[in-house]
Amino acid sequence: MPGPWRYCPNCSMPLTTKMDGGRDRIACPDESCGFIHFGNFSIGCAGVVIRDGKALIVQRGIEPFRGSWQIPGGYAEADEPILEAVEREVREESGVIAKVRDVVGFRHSVGGSIGGPATNIYLVFRLDYVSGEPSDEDSEVMGAGFFSLEEMEEIPGVQGLSKWAIAKAMTADEGIPGLTPDTLAGPVRPGFSIFGVGGFTEQA
Ligand SMILES: [Zn+2]
Repeated sequence: MPGPWRYCPNCSMPLTTKMDGGRDRIACPDESCGFIHFGNFSIGCAGVVIRDGKALIVQRGIEPFRGSWQIPGGYAEADEPILEAVEREVREESGVIAKVRDVVGFRHSVGGSIGGPATNIYLVFRLDYVSGEPSDEDSEVMGAGFFSLEEMEEIPGVQGLSKWAIAKAMTADEGIPGLTPDTLAGPVRPGFSIFGVGGFTEQA
């Protein structure tokens, strides 16, 4: 039996494997249950907040990579809209209130690599600064502040992905928008959020 899964999380039957979608997958043998394990996935989010040409970064106070600096962020909860997740993470880790403007990029990392055991998508948002001064009061953080990319060159341990995201967001600041929160014509299911190029869609 591959992986850590031994019993069906729905009905507790011992799991087996089943051909589904062109490959063997861990599955429940009970047809009426129908559980299939497609893999472990997680969604991360992080925010670039720019104020007066400087971007907000925080210093990690916990392992892994304790002491390194990065843009504030974390995991989106399974029942949490992504916009709320990134604004919450920025607020919790830095004390800064900021509001999402657009998506400037994302990283996809296949599980088992540096991204950890789960296959992960890490979405990077640009947020507009609203209020608050950087604070390191959060227990997971031991430093926080606004720095220019030049100043970050003098700070040891600023994560490369964060510097990439900040550079992207600063480019966007010069008039090139990222993917912006948008709407669909007609009803959408609660919990949907969509993002697209070209600005907000005006509905008839
Ligand atoms: Zn089952």
